[in-house]
Amino acid sequence: MDNLIPVTQPYMPPLEEFVPYLEAIWDSKTVTNGGRFHAQLERELCAYLGVEFLSLFSNGTLALITALQAMKITGEVITTPFSFVATTHALHWNGIRPVFVDIDPVTMNIDAKKIEAAITPQTTAILPVHVYGSPCEVEEIERIADTYGLRVLYDAAHAFGVRKNARSVLEFGDMSVLSFHGTKVFNTFEGGAIICRDAKTKRRVDQLKNFGFVDEVTVVAPGINGKMNEVQAAFGLLQLQHMEKIHTERARVDERYRAALGNVGGLRLPVTPDGCTRNHSYFPVRITRDFPITRDALYERLRAHNIAARRYFYPLISEFPTYRGLPSATRSNLPVASEISQQVLCLPIYPALTPNVQDRIIDIILAAAGLQQYAS
Ligand SMILES: *Cc1c(COP(=O)(O)O)cnc(C)c1O
Repeated sequence: MDNLIPVTQPYMPPLEEFVPYLEAIWDSKTVTNGGRFHAQLERELCAYLGVEFLSLFSNGTLALITALQAMKITGEVITTPFSFVATTHALHWNGIRPVFVDIDPVTMNIDAKKIEAAITPQTTAILPVHVYGSPCEVEEIERIADTYGLRVLYDAAHAFGVRKNARSVLEFGDMSVLSFHGTKVFNTFEGGAIICRDAKTKRRVDQLKNFGFVDEVTVVAPGINGKMNEVQAAFGLLQLQHMEKIHTERARVDERYRAALGNVGGLRLPVTPDGCTRNHSYFPVRITRDFPITRDALYERLRAHNIAARRYFYPLISEFPTYRGLPSATRSNLPVASEISQQVLCLPIYPALTPNVQDRIIDIILAAAGLQQYAS
């Protein structure tokens, strides 16, 4: 039996390259609380991503929860149901009421045209997601936020390194949050970061992720433990050195899917918005009504061949028990998201995916479409 082909897999640099980092940690006896690698990774990520203020976290979910705390967001927040469940959970953990708005059928991000109609006197912020690393309509969202006096927090968990018109997407909004979970393009096993606009806000965020401590005896806020440790930070520094290769290999997989599946009737491949770069974090294909079999049938067929394509994002967040009772969670409010959630299938994409294995995946899809094999 073949091994299971996962939808993604972290890039693991040669183990011997990690050993010197571990030796330095062993020597220093500093394992967390603002060690040398933590400081170095913050600096190097700022340079790599083209941002000025970044605070590392132990994971992306705690970064989202803390970002909302730092901005003192309350009441209602407008967000998308088409995301990983942590996006909305972060609101829930802050006692904030999520208001779901439908998505755009092409980008699959929150539909900026539908945001204004969802604003009420209780609305304080917008929490959009750059889904699959494809940037939201950031200028339009900024205009709406300015008009109504709302804050904007981007869940940029998928958008590591993505640029729009030569600017980092992380520059938009009041804050952005990254995830460095093992499934993401850049990982620190578990990890995350908040990107903010000024030094004062970064100080506030740094305090909140360390219980609210300012100094040994002063606690200014009910903070949490969101600190990234030195082993995570060291792994991040090592990953950063390999980013070019990671990017090239992911782009290779992306191109092969496009060449093989670009003209298959009933399939829709991901599109890149104008002026945007891509990080090839996901390869979401939509299996529309014109394809001979359903998304779920194709998912099962791949599964039978030990290929673990994933139905990101199905179910919608608005369909989970915690949220389905909300007035904005109805299917009639979310027709596009409801349809796409039934059609989307993320195909395996990661640096170590070989052309041979990829062609097996492609051939199963082509056979389902009643077409010839791609390569032999
Ligand atoms: C991965 C992810 C998160 C959560 O990040 P963790 O680091 O796993 O806590 C949040 N939002 C989105 C969209 C994600 O994909």
